[in-house]
Amino acid sequence: MNKKFLRQCIICKEIKDKAELHRITRDYKTGNIMLNNKNEYQGRSVYICKNSSCCIEKALKGNKIKQILKGELSETKRDELCNLLKK
Ligand SMILES: [Zn+2]
Repeated sequence: MNKKFLRQCIICKEIKDKAELHRITRDYKTGNIMLNNKNEYQGRSVYICKNSSCCIEKALKGNKIKQILKGELSETKRDELCNLLKK
């Protein structure tokens, strides 16, 4: 059985297959906000379209990730995420 995991992009609200979305998680142990496409971390997560630079831009410029994950996102971390997401 090939069960699809559908998740919603926090920016455009489109519902897509998990494979088409970046997963960003606030690790419950460290509280760090990390890119989590390989499911290395556990904690509250948000999803952002992989192939929409618009969604990625908005997510990184706005406070949406911080608001939803209730975590801190430093400038450095934001730049780091920006590089990872735009690959
Ligand atoms: Zn989107």
